[in-house]
Amino acid sequence: MTAPVLLLTPGPTPIQADAQAALQKPMLGHMDPAVFALNTRVQHNLRTLYGAGERAFTALLAGTGSLGMDAGFANLLEKGDEVVVCANGSFGYRMADMAERYGAKVTLVEAPVGRAVLLEDVEKAMRGEPKMLAVVHGETSTGVLNPAPEIAALARGKSTLVTVDAVTTVGMMPFHMLEWGIDYSYTGSQKCLSAPPGVAPIAVSQRALESFAGRKTKAPLWYADFQGLRDYWDDHAYHHTVPVQLHYALDAALEYALLEGLENRALRVKKLTVAILETLGDIGFSPFVERPEERLPTVLAVRLPRGVDDAKVRAELRERGISITGGLGATSGLIWRLGLMGESARPEHYLRFMRTLGEILGIRALEGKLEEHLGAVVA
Ligand SMILES: *Cc1c(COP(=O)(O)O)cnc(C)c1O
Repeated sequence: MTAPVLLLTPGPTPIQADAQAALQKPMLGHMDPAVFALNTRVQHNLRTLYGAGERAFTALLAGTGSLGMDAGFANLLEKGDEVVVCANGSFGYRMADMAERYGAKVTLVEAPVGRAVLLEDVEKAMRGEPKMLAVVHGETSTGVLNPAPEIAALARGKSTLVTVDAVTTVGMMPFHMLEWGIDYSYTGSQKCLSAPPGVAPIAVSQRALESFAGRKTKAPLWYADFQGLRDYWDDHAYHHTVPVQLHYALDAALEYALLEGLENRALRVKKLTVAILETLGDIGFSPFVERPEERLPTVLAVRLPRGVDDAKVRAELRERGISITGGLGATSGLIWRLGLMGESARPEHYLRFMRTLGEILGIRALEGKLEEHLGAVVA
């Protein structure tokens, strides 16, 4: 067997050990009582993960994070509905694309690459009472953190449903769906929870369920229809066959995350991000996102110093067993995106990264620098 590749990408992440072991469990049917018991635990733990409150509906969709995104628009929008979508990177634009495919009238709130969406721009777009306001919390394509709680607050007192893409944040950063007034949220199993890809944990508020129940037309996506999902997850009736092995693995990863503690996880990534930025800063890298409060700690975007050949150095890293990601579109060749979700955010992984990067660039003691910075960080 070839040596495993260390994944320091913005997803997938290294699989958490208990989740990896859970994949070996023997197959059970999707209607087996033991699977329903496991599903119930997952639902309960997801309410905790999202801070969704007791009345929220939670489930795993049999697909990746994008299915979570798709399902929200499919279930909560009808043709002609007005939707405000914040877009400052590729996932925001993906949201807008999906909403349009379901016949919604989309108003975009854009921001320049590398900047967060501005509250006053969202406020202006919200002058009416749109059916939905949608925002990506952590924009993976640029490493920008949007102020999701403040944006959600702009919908308070309105009938507008708030959708927040929590793919790069929930499980690794503070996330409080009920308190922030969020109606629909989703993530992907391979991001902050470090389970294998293939399931999308979702959370739906009571208000969103009521809105869904009041639809004039059937939801156009049968596979992820909220009622069909509730039939299976809450009432244990067949809807479609679920990927039971992926449920085992997700359950194990989720139990692990809650045991570690969500606050501890947030602290773990924050400390490591600060130390990495300082270490790379010493050798000429700089943060791509200028404002510290707009930096997404779980996807660290750094600008390359002059003289560092993006493709060449990344290929050499990969040859030595480390995978990182470059920029997209406008930032291609200019930045690296270092993944710090879930199991990626371990000091030992980044010590290895620094050692290897130092070897490639001919810089001595880079690993020791990270160690020093880690020792000095007071998070
Ligand atoms: C990865 C990602 C998605 C899509 O998830 P897939 O699992 O690739 O389908 C959506 N939104 C954000 C912010 C992401 O980082």
